Amino acid sequence: MLQQTRVSVVIPYYERFLGRFPTVHALAAAEEDDVLAAWSGLGFYRRARNLHAGARQMEQDHGGEVPRDPAELGAIKGIGRYTVGAILSAAFDMRLPILDGNVIRVLSRLFRVDGPPDRAATQKVLWGLAEDVLPTHRPGDFNQALMDLGATVCKPSGPICAACPLSDVCEGLAAEDAESFPRPGRKQKVRFVERVAVRLRLPDGRILLERRPARGLLPNLWEMPAAEVSEGEAPGGLARAVCARLVRSHGLAADLVDDLVPCGVAEHRFSHRHWTTHVFEAQALAAPAAPESSKPERRWVAISEFEDLGLPTASRKAIEL
Ligand code: SF4
Repeated sequence: MLQQTRVSVVIPYYERFLGRFPTVHALAAAEEDDVLAAWSGLGFYRRARNLHAGARQMEQDHGGEVPRDPAELGAIKGIGRYTVGAILSAAFDMRLPILDGNVIRVLSRLFRVDGPPDRAATQKVLWGLAEDVLPTHRPGDFNQALMDLGATVCKPSGPICAACPLSDVCEGLAAEDAESFPRPGRKQKVRFVERVAVRLRLPDGRILLERRPARGLLPNLWEMPAAEVSEGEAPGGLARAVCARLVRSHGLAADLVDDLVPCGVAEHRFSHRHWTTHVFEAQALAAPAAPESSKPERRWVAISEFEDLGLPTASRKAIEL
């Protein structure tokens, strides 16, 4: 939960999640939709899926216990070297290093590590250093202290070297170039995507939501029926086409297509994609003749049910416009 999210933001999610799934067993027994709903708002849904799959694997292969052998723990879905070190050092005080963004920054400055951290050769150097500096006494606390030092003192810009307990041994500080470490890596290319989404409302206030495909971005999560705008295509025309398809498959009045009105644009940035979604709305005057559909899966949903569906932030932004 904490990757790319601040602790203060995560705490209520964490408490809610543990309230709902207090044990590996409870998480393993849960439906994926319920896990995604509890994760909703945190983004990066693949982590929630991996957490769920990992719990099932622990339940099946280890009787619901977290294995303490690093190789066995590392074989669980979604658990890489960093997570193995974090779990085993924090929970069982085992002497295993960790390397997250904060630790990378501290070590890179402390030892003036050349080379961008996203390169395999630099990673190897950094893992070696993370292991070298690790004490035998309270390694779990040491790992956490190193992460906290990176988060609060050795900050990305403006490290507070005067308050740093490592200032006497910091090579970056001595050379007066600490802030030039870690070396910059490759920039991720962002793909800009323009879309339309259609908000169809029933007289009782419910709106139509559709489940996204099982593959690709936000797999299996819910959103308003949407489509990508091709180059040169007018969003309004595409929205009408989407609306006409919905009207046909749900047995709604055909004149809904003509009632479609634009109600704004929702922007959402993922790690390497940016969605600009033009939202259009139409209000149905009567209930649909064919309420649900299975391909793609669609449902009329009341606002009070949103919590249970695991709506991603991108969908919420468009719905709330
Ligand atoms: S002395 Fe400054 S640059 Fe070096 S580790 Fe401490 S805060 Fe970071």
